[in-house]
Amino acid sequence: MGPVRVRFAPSPTGELHVGGARTALFNWLFARRFGGQFILRIEDTDQTRSREDLMTPIMDGLRWLGLQWDEGPDIGGPVGPYLQSRRLDLYRTYLRQLISAGKAYYCYCTPDELAEQRANARAAGQPYRYDRRCLYLTPEEQKHRLDEGRTPVVRLFVPDEGTVTVHDLIRGDVSFEKGLLDDFILVKSDGMPTYNFACVVDDHLMGITHVIRAEEHLSNTPKQMLLYEAFGWEMPAFAHVPMILAPDRTKLSKRHGAKGVGEYRQEGILAPALANYLALLGWSYDLSQEFFTLAQAAERFDITDVNKTAAIYNNDKLEWMNAAYIRTIPLEELAELALPFFRDAGLVPPEPSEAEMAYFRNVLGLMRERFRTLREAVETTGYFFVDEITVQPDAEARLKKDPGTPELLKQVSTLLSALPDWDSGSIEQACRGLIAQLNIKSGDLIHPLRAAVTGRTVGAGLFETMAVMGRNRTLAHIDQMLRVLAPQ
Ligand code: GLU
Repeated sequence: MGPVRVRFAPSPTGELHVGGARTALFNWLFARRFGGQFILRIEDTDQTRSREDLMTPIMDGLRWLGLQWDEGPDIGGPVGPYLQSRRLDLYRTYLRQLISAGKAYYCYCTPDELAEQRANARAAGQPYRYDRRCLYLTPEEQKHRLDEGRTPVVRLFVPDEGTVTVHDLIRGDVSFEKGLLDDFILVKSDGMPTYNFACVVDDHLMGITHVIRAEEHLSNTPKQMLLYEAFGWEMPAFAHVPMILAPDRTKLSKRHGAKGVGEYRQEGILAPALANYLALLGWSYDLSQEFFTLAQAAERFDITDVNKTAAIYNNDKLEWMNAAYIRTIPLEELAELALPFFRDAGLVPPEPSEAEMAYFRNVLGLMRERFRTLREAVETTGYFFVDEITVQPDAEARLKKDPGTPELLKQVSTLLSALPDWDSGSIEQACRGLIAQLNIKSGDLIHPLRAAVTGRTVGAGLFETMAVMGRNRTLAHIDQMLRVLAPQ
């Protein structure tokens, strides 16, 4: 066998979901590991949803994750086109080949006639199989049916006896009885190829060596193998990656936090974190190491190491991993990634100055342990970017708890205005001095002061928070509270 060639072959559904992204990732890793090619093919022959703009989010999602393809609809390649809707002539050519070899035949049965056959089989308690009434039609009989206005489908002749065994690289051997496979349809009455037919023609013509796809396609594989046999083509290797289930082992859905890649991105999940998490859905890098880059995974990945059992999706774990990436990537990079979220929220201007960027980085540096996604970062750090803050109910309660609070805040405010240096050490020293002078407990000052400065009861260290926030904004927040607590 030549160099590895794998493909990701999504239908253009308008979004790249967790399952698809993981399939793409395994294909990409396998190609990179063995120095092969990763091909993107769009399976858009289902006419009701063959809009090209539905593939843009899929391509954007793959690129964002770092899964660049070597050949595909946008960049072309030696065995294109890479959109099935542009390959219809090829399917026609290969169909003729099967028909003239007597391996496939036209079937003129109408949907009503087929429904009747099905009902009869059910009544007789038999599994339904197409009864092949069109297999031996003479040319005259065929013409007669065409004259009646019938439009035929094309079926593959599937022998009644024997088994087809899929040698799956993940699951081992899985056998299917040919007798149960039916003379399945290759081309529909509207002339469009079915998934199984187009897929085999393309995988063959594109030189695919390993078909790595979702487990739900395992039942299609024996049919595809029969097609390879009918054409006399060499078969690729097959690997069906296990399902991804919800924690309660039901079908994964939005309810469990599973989303399209574009939505994760909008939520502020980082691409390397998502890629890392997806790789763990069915594969492990090393028993002692959960965090790795795509490049590291590509040094070790082998499709034969993927688990047979279903993977369980856990949104909390994804966010936990994301939080770890947020904590550890270079601050500059974090700021670049977070910037659009803050711009959209109107907290950072569209064209921030160098000083504004420096401030932004300082805030993130102080706060990055306190949010799990970039969207959450906006919520968690918003008070650093406005003069007028929103006070949360628990902070408001804390401010109102003690009748002496306004007076105390006034004193701190005066003290802080007069500080020669604005750094956390000087701020702390001044506050501790006041605590000693008034003979109160640290919490008696720190808690209402935090509530006044941030509008919250929890956050990063208070003195560091004020140091980063700067004197003017800190005093503005305290002033705002004084106005609220003791309106003039
Ligand atoms: N278009 C199919 C899907 O989106 C591809 C299956 C395959 O990889 O063969 O599920």
